[in-house]
Amino acid sequence: MFDHDIIIIGSGVSGLSCAKILNDNNKKFVLYESQPEVGGRMSTDFVGEHKLDRGFQVFIKGYPLYDDVSDVDQLSLHSFLPGALIRLNNRFYKVVDPFRNIIEGFKSVFTPIGSLLDKLKILKLRISLLLKPSGNLTNNISTYNYLKNNGFSEEMINNFFVPFFGSVLLDKDLSTVKSTFETVYKAMSSDNICLPENGIVDFPKSIYNQLPKDQFCFSTEVTAIDNHVVTFADGTSTSSKSIVIATDATTASNLTQSFKAPLYCGTTCLYFVTSRQLIKEPMIITNAGEGFINTICCLTNVNHSYSSQNLISVNVNKIIPDITHDEIVDSIKLELQSWFPEVDFDFIKLYEIPNALPKHTPSEFNRMRNIPQGENGVYFCGDYLYGASVNDAIKSGLETAEIILSLD
Ligand SMILES: Cc1cc2nc3c(=O)[nH]c(=O)nc-3n(C[C@H](O)[C@H](O)[C@H](O)COP(=O)(O)OP(=O)(O)OC[C@H]3O[C@@H](n4cnc5c(N)ncnc54)[C@H](O)[C@@H]3O)c2cc1C
Repeated sequence: MFDHDIIIIGSGVSGLSCAKILNDNNKKFVLYESQPEVGGRMSTDFVGEHKLDRGFQVFIKGYPLYDDVSDVDQLSLHSFLPGALIRLNNRFYKVVDPFRNIIEGFKSVFTPIGSLLDKLKILKLRISLLLKPSGNLTNNISTYNYLKNNGFSEEMINNFFVPFFGSVLLDKDLSTVKSTFETVYKAMSSDNICLPENGIVDFPKSIYNQLPKDQFCFSTEVTAIDNHVVTFADGTSTSSKSIVIATDATTASNLTQSFKAPLYCGTTCLYFVTSRQLIKEPMIITNAGEGFINTICCLTNVNHSYSSQNLISVNVNKIIPDITHDEIVDSIKLELQSWFPEVDFDFIKLYEIPNALPKHTPSEFNRMRNIPQGENGVYFCGDYLYGASVNDAIKSGLETAEIILSLD
C-alpha cells in the first residue's frame, strides 16, 4: 500500500497543467514544490514598487494550449506593438507586422532589414505556418537550416531572425529545432505578445487558483526517489504509486539517473529605471550589431503597473563569464549611454539564469523524446521533453496526465 496515488514534484507550468487535468478527472494528487510559491521559471519578484520578472519573458497569447488549463480572457493582458525596433549600424529601424498594423507594416517594407525578396518570403512562411496544424515534429532540422531551406538570405537571417528569434530562443546560432521556432513564430503571427497585469507569474497562478490548495506543499524539496519512495530535504519520506517529476531536466536527471540532462541556454537580465522614456512605442528593441546587449524592453511602455517610473529590462542572451556583477552593470550602462546619450540609467537588479531554456539541437531533441516513461511508476514532465516554450510545458503536462489517466 502506498501513502498516495499520485505525487507531482514541481509547480511550474508543466506540473500545474498535469495537476489541472488530473483534478478535472477526479484524481487526487499531492504536489511538492521546493520554492515558497508556484511558477517555476515563470516567476515575478516584487522589489520596492517594481514588478521584476525573473528574466525577461513575454506572454505569447497565440499559443494554442492555454485554453486547456486556464481562461486567458480572465488575465488582464497588456499588448506590445507587433514587431520590433531593430538597431543596425547605429540606427533604429521599426519592423512591424503589416497584417496587424497596415500603415507601420507598409513602412517596414522600406527598411534595410533584408531584401524585398526576403520580405516576400516572410509573408509566404507566415501564411504557410498559419495554415499548417501545430506540433509537426517530423524532419526536425535546426532553425538555421530551415530558414536557409526556405530561401532566406544570410543578411536577413543575421539582421532579423538572429536578433529577434535568437533572443526569444536564447540561441544566437539558431541551432534550436525548427518545431520550437514554428510554434513561437506561428503564435506570434496569430496574436499579440503581452505582459500580464501583475507580472508573468499571473499565468501559472491562474492555473493554481483552480486547484485545491490543501494538496500543495511548498518549500519542500525532494532529494531522492527510489522504488516509489520520495525523500525530502529534512530526511522524511512518503510513498506513491505514481510519481510525476515536473522539475527542470537537470533535477529530474539527478533524482533518477535514468537519462543525461541536456545542456541549457542561459540569460542575464538587468533592470534599470530611466530618467525619460527611451522610445514612445510599446515595442521590444533588438540589437543586430555589436555589444553585450541583445534586447531592451521598455516594460512600462507596455504595462504601467510594472512600476510608476520608466522601468526597462536589458537582456543578454548568455551568462557573461569571468566578470563581476558590478562590472557587468558598468559595461551595460556604458553601452546604454552610447545608444541613448541624453538618458540616465539607475540600476535596480541583475538576474543570472543559467538554466533558462533547454538547448534543443535536433539530436538533443530526439534524445529527450525517447526518455522512458513509467519505469517504477516514475513519469517525466517538463518543457525539455517537447520544446523550449510555455506551450510545450503545457503540452508535456497534458500528455503525462493522459498517460496516468490511461492506467485505470
Ligand atoms: C528568462 C526566461 C525567458 C523565457 N521566455 C519565454 C518566452 O518568451 N516564451 C515562452 O514560451 N517560454 C519562455 N521561457 C520558457 C518557459 O518559462 C518555460 O518553458 C516553462 O516555464 C517551463 O515550465 P516547466 O514546468 O517545464 O519547468 P519549471 O518552470 O522549471 O518548473 C519546475 C519546478 O520544479 C521545482 N523544483 C525543482 N527541483 C525541485 C525539487 N528537488 N523538489 C521540489 N520541487 C522542485 C522548481 O522550483 C519549479 O517550480 C522563458 C524562460 C526563462 C527562464
